[in-house]
Amino acid sequence: MQATDVEKVPSLFSRTNPFQARVLKNVNLNGEGSSKETRHIELSLQGSGFSYEPGDCLGIVPYNDPELVTLILEVMKWDADTTVVINKQNETLPLKEALLKHFELTLLSKKIVQQAAELSESKELKQLVADAEKMKAYTHGRDLLDLLSEFGPWKASVHEIVALLRKLPPRLYSVASSLAANPEEVHLTIGAVHYMAHGRERKGVCSVMCAERLNEGDTIPVFIQVNKHFRLPETLEHDIIMVGPGTGIAPFRSFIQERTVSKATGKAWLFFGDQRAATDFLYQQELEQYLQAGVLTKIDAAFSRDTDQKVYVQHNMQENSRELFAWLERGAYFYVCGDKQNMAKDVHNTLIDIIEKEGQLSREDAEAYLNGLQEQGRYQRDVY
Ligand code: NAP
Repeated sequence: MQATDVEKVPSLFSRTNPFQARVLKNVNLNGEGSSKETRHIELSLQGSGFSYEPGDCLGIVPYNDPELVTLILEVMKWDADTTVVINKQNETLPLKEALLKHFELTLLSKKIVQQAAELSESKELKQLVADAEKMKAYTHGRDLLDLLSEFGPWKASVHEIVALLRKLPPRLYSVASSLAANPEEVHLTIGAVHYMAHGRERKGVCSVMCAERLNEGDTIPVFIQVNKHFRLPETLEHDIIMVGPGTGIAPFRSFIQERTVSKATGKAWLFFGDQRAATDFLYQQELEQYLQAGVLTKIDAAFSRDTDQKVYVQHNMQENSRELFAWLERGAYFYVCGDKQNMAKDVHNTLIDIIEKEGQLSREDAEAYLNGLQEQGRYQRDVY
C-alpha cells in the first residue's frame, strides 16, 4: 500500500451512519441592526475519516424545535412517554423523542391532509380535501400543529396520527471551507430562516437549530454529500467567475481557500450581493485579504437595500459586461450559487444578454453559446 492510499480508505460514516462532529465555532456574520442572521459554523471532522472537495455539501441530521413538540403534545393532550412505532421495521421510540428527532413536523403534504381527513369527523376537513385548489393553498406555509389544532377534536389514536408522518430528512449545505486549507475541519455558512405565516412564527428546522441551539463543544450528526456537478477547473490556470449572493458565497469561500493552497494562477472574480453593506457583507475582511494576496482578482458587491433602487449581482454583471464577456472568451468558468427561484434565473438571463450584446450575436446564438459553456462544464450552478 502506498502512503497516498491511506487517504482513500472509505469512512465508516455516511448518510445512514452519520458522524458526530464537534462544534469549534458558531458566530453570526451579520452586524448589529441587520435584518438577517447568517451563521459561520466550524466543525471538527477529526476521527471521521471524511474528505471532501470544494463544491461538495455537508448533510446535517437536525432535530425539531422542542417548543413545537411541546405545543403538539399539549394540543393533542398526548402522553410524551407513549411508545410509538417509527418505521416499517417496527422500531419504537417514546413519543416525545420520536417527534423531536424522527418525524418531519414543519411541512404538510397533500397526502398527510388527505389521510388525516379519513381519520377525522370534521366536515370542514372533508370539504377541504375535496377541493384541490383549496388544499394546495392550505398546505402552503402550514404545519402539523395547524392541522391538528384546526380540525380537532380527533378520535384517531396517537399511533394512527404518527403513522401518517414522514421521516425528517437531513439538510444539505455547501461546504464553505477547503480541507487542504483547514485539515480535519469543515465550515458552513447558514442563514437562519424565520418568517411569520398564518399568525405564528415559523422557523427553519436545521438553520434555526444551528443558530439557536448549537453551542461550541456540542456535537451534531453529519455526513458528506459529494457534488460532482460543482467543481473548480481541473487546471490551475483557468479563470473563474463566481456569482454568490447571500449564503451563495459559501462554496466560493471554499474555492478561494483551495486556490490559495494550490497556488492557482488563473484569475478569480467574485460577484457578491446582500441587503446592506454595513451589516451584511459576509466575510468582508477575509475577502479583502484574498484580494490583497491576489487570489481574488476582483470583487463586485451589490447591496439591495442601501439605495432607493435595488442593486443586484446581475446589475453589476451588466455594468461589467464587456470585461465579463472577455473573460468568457478567454476560457473562464462561470459559477452561480444561491437562490434558485429568482436570482439564478435572472443571472442566467443576464448572462445571455451579455453574450448577445458583447458577442454581437442573435438571441438564439447567445443561448447556444451558453449551452456550449454548460456542455464544456464551464457554466455550473449550485442553486436551491
Ligand atoms: P438572499 O435572500 O438570496 O438575498 C441575497 C441578496 O440577493 C439580497 O440582497 C437580495 O435582495 C438579493 N436578491 C433578491 N432577489 C434577487 C434576484 N432576483 N436577483 C438577484 N439578487 C436578488 O440570501 P440568503 O438570505 O442568504 O438566502 C439564500 C437562501 O434563501 C436560499 O436558500 C434561497 O433559496 C432562500 N430564499 C429564497 C427566496 C425565494 O423566494 N425563493 C427568498 C429568499 C431566500 P432583497 O432581499 O433586498 O431583494
